[in-house]
Amino acid sequence: MKEILVTGGAGYIGSHVVKMLAERGYHPIVFDSLENGFAEFVKGHELVVGDIGDYDLLVDVFRKRKIVCVMNFASYIAVGESMQLPLKYYTNNVAKTLNLFRAMIECEVKRFIFSSTAAVYGYPEKVPIQEDAMLFPINPYGRTKLMIEQVLRDLDAASGMKFIALRYFNAAGADPSGEIGESHTPETHLIPLVLRSILEDEYTITVFGTDYRTHDGTCIRDYIHVNDLADAHILALEALLAEKESAVYNLGNGRGFTVREVIDAVRRATGKKPKVKEGPRRPGDPDVLVASSEKAMKKLGWKPKMAELETIVETAWNWERQRRRKGW
Ligand code: UDP
Repeated sequence: MKEILVTGGAGYIGSHVVKMLAERGYHPIVFDSLENGFAEFVKGHELVVGDIGDYDLLVDVFRKRKIVCVMNFASYIAVGESMQLPLKYYTNNVAKTLNLFRAMIECEVKRFIFSSTAAVYGYPEKVPIQEDAMLFPINPYGRTKLMIEQVLRDLDAASGMKFIALRYFNAAGADPSGEIGESHTPETHLIPLVLRSILEDEYTITVFGTDYRTHDGTCIRDYIHVNDLADAHILALEALLAEKESAVYNLGNGRGFTVREVIDAVRRATGKKPKVKEGPRRPGDPDVLVASSEKAMKKLGWKPKMAELETIVETAWNWERQRRRKGW
């Protein structure tokens, strides 16, 4: 069975990928510090508790095992926090990731799948956004991801490191089993927060900005189901194993929804009314981010299976209720 090292595999997107890797006949080895991940998310899978800054531990794992590819989800992801604590982001998302590359090259592990982001585009000139659009991130989070993409190109040229960088748009939803899902502390993402406004009496969701240049004044985003993202990772892995060239792909549904439309979809999916108030814009939010994922569809044969916003919201709702029952 092919062994895949999944750093950050006990987090939201990583745990969905781990589950799918195992279902598709791979052997995922989760490498996670558990700072933001949960051991419960990877129950039944091999877990090494460690930090990607720990060179000796990484080398030890690479030497003892036969890892054919590394998938890296071990990064900080909150845009707002990255503006307040840039060094935290540059240290983890860049410096520690370079350390991971150093260990990989030392041990001749030469395939890498990278969680990149739509934030590398900043304020896009044209939507849907294609991969060759201008890259001009407007916050430290986006800059850390772009830096690693650039490093990967250099490593490909110098050391033959083959990589696929996947630029996610808005990851959302949960595995339909309800066993794993989104859980961040603090939670900053729209769908879990709208659900919270239904489940917690004292919580009201704030709409960040109502004067954007969109049809209802709120931001448009492209929400993509986490299992569709996971599926793209498996296809990317297969492409790298088949010795395809390094590449960068957008992953989104190609359809955008406003914040108000998402809130309405939650109302429809749950039959309950979210508590909503309006607030100022959140710094660093572009009006519209919608992906063109044509390239991933054409080259990887990817096709989102849970593309409907209602399906995405229903799976998130299912997870949110189950985890509260379990006290997570
Ligand atoms: N948003 C909002 N209220 C919140 C959280 C998010 O209005 O409490 C908006 C945010 O401004 C953005 C969209 O919802 O337009 C998606 O934000 P999220 O933080 O989920 O993902 P991001 O786009 O930052 O990756």
